[in-house]
Amino acid sequence: MIVGLSSRSQMNKPAELKLDSVPVWINGKPVTPAGRHGDVFNPALGQVTKRVVYADAGIVDAAVKAAAAAFPAWRDTPPLRRARILQKFLQLLQREQKALARIVTEEHGKTLPDAMGSVQRGIEVVEFACGIPHLLKGEFGENAGTQIDTHTLRQPVGVCAGITPFNFPVMVPLWMFPMAIACGNTFILKPSEKVPSASIRMAQLFQEAGLPDGVLNVVQGDKVAVDAILNHPGIHAVSFVGSTPIAKYIYETCAKSGKRVQALGGAKNHAVVLPDADLEFAADALVGAAYGSAGERCMAISAVVAVGAAGDPLVKLLAQKARAIKVGAGDAEGVEMGPLVTGQHRDKVAGYIEAGIKEGAKLVVDGRPGARQDGFYLGTSLFDQVKPQMSIYRDEIFGPVLVVLRAETMEEAIALVNKNPYANGTAIFTESGGAARRFAAEIQVGMVGVNVPIPVPVAYFSFGGWKNSLFGDLHVHGTESVKFYTRTKVVTSRWPHQDTPAPGFHMPTLG
Ligand code: NAD
Repeated sequence: MIVGLSSRSQMNKPAELKLDSVPVWINGKPVTPAGRHGDVFNPALGQVTKRVVYADAGIVDAAVKAAAAAFPAWRDTPPLRRARILQKFLQLLQREQKALARIVTEEHGKTLPDAMGSVQRGIEVVEFACGIPHLLKGEFGENAGTQIDTHTLRQPVGVCAGITPFNFPVMVPLWMFPMAIACGNTFILKPSEKVPSASIRMAQLFQEAGLPDGVLNVVQGDKVAVDAILNHPGIHAVSFVGSTPIAKYIYETCAKSGKRVQALGGAKNHAVVLPDADLEFAADALVGAAYGSAGERCMAISAVVAVGAAGDPLVKLLAQKARAIKVGAGDAEGVEMGPLVTGQHRDKVAGYIEAGIKEGAKLVVDGRPGARQDGFYLGTSLFDQVKPQMSIYRDEIFGPVLVVLRAETMEEAIALVNKNPYANGTAIFTESGGAARRFAAEIQVGMVGVNVPIPVPVAYFSFGGWKNSLFGDLHVHGTESVKFYTRTKVVTSRWPHQDTPAPGFHMPTLG
């Protein structure tokens, strides 16, 4: 066992906890070098349970060398053979789904059923990646000129890297490396230092599935490791998911050195509720979308825009349902919302509740009494009468705080959403098909739900926002990821024989 993952019985007896060190994974082996390490917490206990290696530029360089050495043979491996390894990896992930979910709960804090769901959504990307032979097929044009044919090739980019956030320790890495590797690239994953163990377990499983050493490497750590990735000339493409300031930094740094880059950022996702909506249904959907995973989802609904007469009854329902949410350890029976990821983050979120009160918003449900000392807990909070200039609306809080704004009309609500600099996801609740259609057409947001609060596209579509929620052009998974992880080449061929016209001197045209 490479990563010492504490069992539940250990979790109940903090005094006996063994502080295992989570390694990096280079060329098919776990490595625990001396040097900088960081703490890994169990948020339900509020205690350090493991340590993790913080990679420096030397460790990143070793990972790049391993990936570069593995690249030629992996690139030349027929896509069908790559797909067979992915199929085996898929089976192993399915076998280990519960164990992976448990790791997620132990390091992130979200409930086990929620963790299971997120692992499932990641597994579905691997399922999609198994179809890679079909996805890599190029185009062919016969007789582009007299006896001249043209075809396209889709070739891997080379050594790719992925840098991922704390909130989906399995799903977000699975958005990236299975598709990159399916396309014939080799990969270096840098997971969040807050949740490092699941990536190592996935690397082990991929190896067990038959992946050659060096094709997938995992480096752990913080900005030092990230900067070493960004500045390494041997890395050709970078996928990033995290907060907006870091996404922008990643995008700009990669662009300067000519690396291909997709950098997904933060969010402030609005749900617009029209007066004709089924308010009971909408309120149920909204509390799940706002407080699920303690609001630590990039697709969480964090702002509700209540239109006209929907306002008062909706706030009443949201308050009732928010107060009823059961908060506790993620692996305890019946718990709906776990702790936040760290004590620092819990305090930051609590600070926003203070700020909202000072700014004049109406605090309808106060989560602060739910703060506990035996873990990074905070209760659910709900604000009404929130105005666009308030920090609780402007900033991504990334915690269990839902804010309600009021609008007179749907047009006013659309204008408000479109003015927000974030544009990851949004949803409308209505019984009117016409209103929903107009909303989907006019809203300037990457992913739209109609009576669906968290419209995360399935694996065979692509995921990504607009504006400050995505720097770059191509979204993750689905067919856009095939475009991101490959370069196209156009080949124009002529095979002369006796009646082939002689090549001309001027620019050829068909006339
Ligand atoms: P983060 O930006 O702090 O960290 C993301 C990654 O960047 C981590 O691997 C981290 O080690 C690294 N990093 C952090 N600071 C850095 C720095 N100064 N220089 C270089 N690298 C740095 O994000 P987080 O707190 O881990 O995750 C939460 C954020 O991620 C939220 O903003 C959330 O909306 C966003 N997110 C977005 C999506 C999406 O699809 N758009 C999905 C999940 C999470």
